[in-house]
Amino acid sequence: MTDWTRRRVCALAGGALMAAVAPHVARGRSRPRVVVIGGGIGGATVARYLAGLKTLDVTLIEPKPNHVTCFFSNLYLAGLRSLASLTFGFEALAERHGVTMIQKAATAIDPASSTVELQSGERLTYDRLVLAPGIAFNFGEIGGYDEAAAKIMPHAWNAGPQSEVLRRQLESMEDGGVFVIAAPANPFRCPPAPYERASLVAYYFKQFKPKSKILILDAKDQFSGQELFQDAWSRHYPGMIEWLPAQFIGRTKAVHAATCSVVTENQTFKAAVANVIPPQKAGLIAERAGLTDSTGWCPVDPATFESTLQPGIHVVGDAIVGGDMPKSAFSANSQAKACAFAIAASLTGSPHFPPRLFNSCYTFLAPDDAFTNAITFAPEDGSIRTIKMFISKVGESADVRRRTAHQAVGWYSAFTADVFG
Ligand SMILES: Cc1cc2nc3c(=O)[nH]c(=O)nc-3n(C[C@H](O)[C@H](O)[C@H](O)COP(=O)(O)OP(=O)(O)OC[C@H]3O[C@@H](n4cnc5c(N)ncnc54)[C@H](O)[C@@H]3O)c2cc1C
Repeated sequence: MTDWTRRRVCALAGGALMAAVAPHVARGRSRPRVVVIGGGIGGATVARYLAGLKTLDVTLIEPKPNHVTCFFSNLYLAGLRSLASLTFGFEALAERHGVTMIQKAATAIDPASSTVELQSGERLTYDRLVLAPGIAFNFGEIGGYDEAAAKIMPHAWNAGPQSEVLRRQLESMEDGGVFVIAAPANPFRCPPAPYERASLVAYYFKQFKPKSKILILDAKDQFSGQELFQDAWSRHYPGMIEWLPAQFIGRTKAVHAATCSVVTENQTFKAAVANVIPPQKAGLIAERAGLTDSTGWCPVDPATFESTLQPGIHVVGDAIVGGDMPKSAFSANSQAKACAFAIAASLTGSPHFPPRLFNSCYTFLAPDDAFTNAITFAPEDGSIRTIKMFISKVGESADVRRRTAHQAVGWYSAFTADVFG
């Protein structure tokens, strides 16, 4: 056990001191109540780890009956996984871990009275509030792209029905069609994912529609894992994937759903299937609660994940201004654990130490070719900074890549068990 984990375990054991926290407990309850909004990766992890203390009343508010993971959803698009295998219910959180589930959306937060309002009009009081609402889309930034257009030109950037629409379109596309992916500028959810999507859809095309092409219209001039992707594209899918950076085509500025066209500053691209991934911001409830700044994301204290705009409210996951930390499920899970420790320390009056934070991603280039990274972060000067990093390299043997792909599948099982119990 490292010094860091030992200290964390001590902080958690401090939960036994909960009897001494009466001042933190809202009137009429014997245990402090932590309310968590959003039952995706960040929210489910916070709820599970806080409920593990057995001294808190933990309530998780999530309108959806289950969670479909975005990670591995590109494998679904390529026909390599079922959506059912990516879907997790909340039963274990409730039954095994004692989290109170409320299947509703939170509609408002009143920090002055420490209450959350639900879509039903009910109100919940809290001693601590955690938000993990994920992302919302800046629909206004691409002319013509709104909820209705997203049904025709899906983003599939929240897994579930959108992924199903895109899969159906890819399946019914004729051989020789052009699949256009419009990738957003930074920051956005999961930086390597548009390029993983291109790789896995190319794998599908190679088998079933070999005359088809993939065009990536990028709002950036470089992207995460670029060398590794471009190397793999030339090895596995020569001539099939074309990446067009912003310096040549300009940013995507509009779509025409009726003609399935994507319009950039310099050109119009007609697609057989178009996957438009719009610019993003923190989930709407965060904005409504005054937790976002001019970037559209939530600034937080990087040690505790407490909002710097609203004391007593914590935010984790894709919704935060994450410094060097990418918006990923692994990051959300790591932030959620650090946040749970900070809340436990604050409610028990035990000491809190700055956390180490982690991100490790597996990215598929083909079913038996994946690369990985592993990054350690720490709070520094009010932000989250990288302190150590490993990333796979171009030129690794096929055997190393096959083993990485195999490890990815193991990681998926272990990680989702950690989050959803
Ligand atoms: C194609 C793709 C591939 C990816 N691959 C990887 C990968 O390989 N590895 C990796 O680490 N990450 C990956 N990611 C990123 C990962 O999925 C996200 O970073 C992660 O889900 C973020 O967790 P979160 O808790 O912030 O948000 P989410 O998991 O999206 O959860 C947010 C939850 O909040 C709920 N919510 C929102 N508003 C309210 C409200 N008002 N009231 C109640 N509930 C609300 C939503 O319903 C949702 O369930 C990928 C993403 C995509 C799109």
